Amino acid sequence: MLRMSLQIYDAIRQHGEQTYPHECCGVLLGRFLTEDGGPVNAVEDAIRAGNTRTDSAHNRYQIAPQELVRIQRQGREHGLDIVGFYHSHPDHPARWSPTDFAEAHWLGCSYVITAVEQGAARQTNSFRLAGTREEDKSFEDEVIEVTGQLDPGLPPRQANNGLAGDPGLEPGPGGEVAQS
Ligand SMILES: [Zn+2]
Repeated sequence: MLRMSLQIYDAIRQHGEQTYPHECCGVLLGRFLTEDGGPVNAVEDAIRAGNTRTDSAHNRYQIAPQELVRIQRQGREHGLDIVGFYHSHPDHPARWSPTDFAEAHWLGCSYVITAVEQGAARQTNSFRLAGTREEDKSFEDEVIEVTGQLDPGLPPRQANNGLAGDPGLEPGPGGEVAQS
C-alpha cells in the first residue's frame, strides 16, 4: 500500500497538469513500514524533478542522477528514504509501459502514474516494484490510501487503481509500447 496526504496526492496530479503535454516526474520521500504483514510506503514529501528527456518529453521521463542523489541526501537529513517515484502519462492510460518496467530498479519502491487527458489529471495508479533482485522483479498493483481529507462527511477516498472488474482500462495490445 502507498499512503500519502491529500495535499501530496493533489500536488502530484497538479504537477502532471502543469507540464502537459510533457511528462512530469518526481521523487517520493518517506518511510518503509510494515502493517498487518504487508508493506506500506508512507510518503512524507513529494519532490518535483526536472525531466531530462527533452528530446521526447511527451512520452519519456528521466531524473538526472545528480538530482536523484541530491534528493536522497535531502531526505536522509530528515530521516526519510526514497520510497517511490511518480510521473505522468499525457493522453495515455495510467498503466506502466514496458519502458517504465525496464527502467525501474528500486525494489520495494512505489511507481505512481497519473493519466493526464487534455491537460486534466484523471486516473492515478501505483505499482510496487516487488522482487528480490533485477532478474525477478515485477510490478504489483498497489492501493493508494489518501489521508488527511478535510470533509469528514465523505467516505475515505480510495485512490486505488480501480481496475478490478473494469477490464476496459487495461492497455490495448501494443497500445502503450512507446510510452514511458
Ligand atoms: Zn510511463
